[in-house]
Amino acid sequence: MGTTFLKYALSCTFILYFFGFNAGALDVFSVFRKECGKKPSIAIIGAGIGGTSCAYFLTELFGKDVYIDIFEAEEVGGRLKSQYIGGIEVELGGAVIHPRNKYMKSFVKKFGLEVELVHPGRAGIYNGKEFIFLESGWSFIDYFRMIYRYGLVNSFHFFKDIEYMLDKFERVYNTLEKGYGFRSAEKMLEYMHRSFPGMRNVTIEEAFRKQFGDLMYEEIILPIMRVNYGQGGNLHQFVGSVSLAGAMPGLWSVKGGNRRVAEELLKASSALIMRSPVYQINYNVFDQKYTLSFPQLMEGNFPQSEDYDVVVVAAPITEDSEFPIEFGPSILTDYYKPRPYHTTHVTIIEGKLNYTVFNCSVDPPPTEIFTPNSNLMFNSLTRLTKDDDKFELWKIFSSERLNPYDLELYFGEDFEVRLEKVWEAYPEYEVPTLIEDSFFIQHNLYYLNAVEWAASAMEMSVLSAKNIAVIIHKFWQRSNDYGWFCYFCKGPENFWRKY
Ligand SMILES: Cc1cc2nc3c(=O)[nH]c(=O)nc-3n(C[C@H](O)[C@H](O)[C@H](O)COP(=O)(O)OP(=O)(O)OC[C@H]3O[C@@H](n4cnc5c(N)ncnc54)[C@H](O)[C@@H]3O)c2cc1C
Repeated sequence: MGTTFLKYALSCTFILYFFGFNAGALDVFSVFRKECGKKPSIAIIGAGIGGTSCAYFLTELFGKDVYIDIFEAEEVGGRLKSQYIGGIEVELGGAVIHPRNKYMKSFVKKFGLEVELVHPGRAGIYNGKEFIFLESGWSFIDYFRMIYRYGLVNSFHFFKDIEYMLDKFERVYNTLEKGYGFRSAEKMLEYMHRSFPGMRNVTIEEAFRKQFGDLMYEEIILPIMRVNYGQGGNLHQFVGSVSLAGAMPGLWSVKGGNRRVAEELLKASSALIMRSPVYQINYNVFDQKYTLSFPQLMEGNFPQSEDYDVVVVAAPITEDSEFPIEFGPSILTDYYKPRPYHTTHVTIIEGKLNYTVFNCSVDPPPTEIFTPNSNLMFNSLTRLTKDDDKFELWKIFSSERLNPYDLELYFGEDFEVRLEKVWEAYPEYEVPTLIEDSFFIQHNLYYLNAVEWAASAMEMSVLSAKNIAVIIHKFWQRSNDYGWFCYFCKGPENFWRKY
């Protein structure tokens, strides 16, 4: 009698589950869930700010019920890297953080890291012949100069429109915290504001010339784009707007280097760091596991591959990646096609800048030089030392390696190249954006850096990390609740945000 009743109860539960009525059924099935429920093994490829924050969010969501391995080919922090040169800490990659970057802000608070405001120097816009705009260093005077040169309406809109965009951008935080995820960067943008996805199909030249006028576009906007993304009028309007936000006052950085955030996230997560590149991912359709192949980690009889339930690629899949990943034949190719990244050279020079080359006799002279002119050897020149320091240290961004003749022109004969760093820095943006920047390569295989095609910035990678962690967690919970029914009745599309 007892067993007949149990069979009856189970079959009712089964039917309830199948039709999606899971409220009462859950308790009976939870016994079975415990039996079947196992900890997912998750591999993250890349320990930059994206990979480490993903490990952190996964630990927050799963608690102890997860195994995470994070593979890193080089150093934790990735494109966040700093170095002391002449006693000054120099950020070589991601340098400034916007005051409205909520996740980055919350991390530094949580880990008790100290931050410092990035004091903008006296900026000058140089067109190749002369300075067309010079800041005084006094913000209210500069604001009046801006109004005088570019007009009241344009100047007002310049700040107002960025604030408006940031307000819309912030909508995404609440949604992610509530446990909703997005299938693609495009869907994430659409949720922020319905006009955002379309901005990926318009160049900044088309959009901002109209919005702010020719003069402001050429003298202010283009130089900002060149310093932030090394590219000009062909950037799309969304990344262009993110770039403008990155030129607003109130920017800050972490004392001791921004990469410390990634290091702390890694420590606070339950992830094991595997100091090795991954060179291949294969999918086994029978046991639905991903096999990652990597060079021998240690001497001896150690494996050179490992199986995982879930894989997050948290490194850009680029055309000329230093550590390319080969995807096995059973992995769908639609969403991970390598795409070109823009090369940016960072050169640190110790030497006195020769202002006469710039036809500049103002005193004090500008300490940050930007340009809309793509024929010049630099995208920006920033002095890292203060007015009263005994020596001058300059950080130069350029799209090509600087040759000694150019450097001699700007610094005379008495200079020293203290450091050179080449980055595959950010996507080479093109308009229109034809590919949907999907976070989802296929079942249980995610691509975090898809978000960079909307805009490349630390906070964007962290948003993508949170989004992927939320999706993995929900999908895994559902798989446990529903077993293989999950594939038929409750696929991940049910918890991608609907709107
Ligand atoms: C010069 C420069 C200036 C910038 N300035 C700013 C700024 O001021 N503000 C801002 O917000 N953003 C800025 N950015 C962008 C920002 O740095 C990046 O968007 C962000 O750091 C990307 O983080 P990520 O973790 O997604 O990728 P990455 O930092 O690139 O991390 C990927 C990691 O994966 C590793 N890896 C790659 N392939 C493999 C493999 N096969 N196996 C194992 N590991 C692998 C890499 O070694 C790397 O550590 C700048 C970038 C550059 C280059």
